Amino acid sequence: MEISITFSYNTVFDCEVDDIMSMLSELLRNLFKKRATVLYPEERDKVHVPEGYRGKLEFYREKCIGCTLCYQVCPSYTIEIVVDEKGKRPVFNLARCTYCGQCEDICPTKSIHLTKQFEVISLDKKDLVVK
Ligand code: SF4
Ligand code: SF4
Repeated sequence: MEISITFSYNTVFDCEVDDIMSMLSELLRNLFKKRATVLYPEERDKVHVPEGYRGKLEFYREKCIGCTLCYQVCPSYTIEIVVDEKGKRPVFNLARCTYCGQCEDICPTKSIHLTKQFEVISLDKKDLVVK
């Protein structure tokens, strides 16, 4: 069965006028408003990072007791457990981290903290290793 839909010239024209009018009113409404965005990266200091943002991970090695819970919950295999003079300790490869925050939540000694730092980039992968 063939269905054909036709629009009259007036219907199309009315739609376009409505669209243009609503666009113009939106334009006028916003023309003198303060800019809602920042020029990143030039204005990086003005970037608002909300409370609870999960950015670059910090590790306080001296607080760690080597329980390996962080390793067990990490869904992206970011954490490797190494053994040093103090026992088992995690090493984080941030190139793999999804910033889910599960390691921070489960750590019994608050040795892990996800900061507000949102720029986690490097040309050298070694810079993304946190020990
Ligand atoms: S934040 Fe998530 S992905 Fe990153 S190390 Fe912790 S558990 Fe793994
Ligand atoms: S969960 Fe905390 S205390 Fe346990 S190994 Fe990880 S960082 Fe160390």
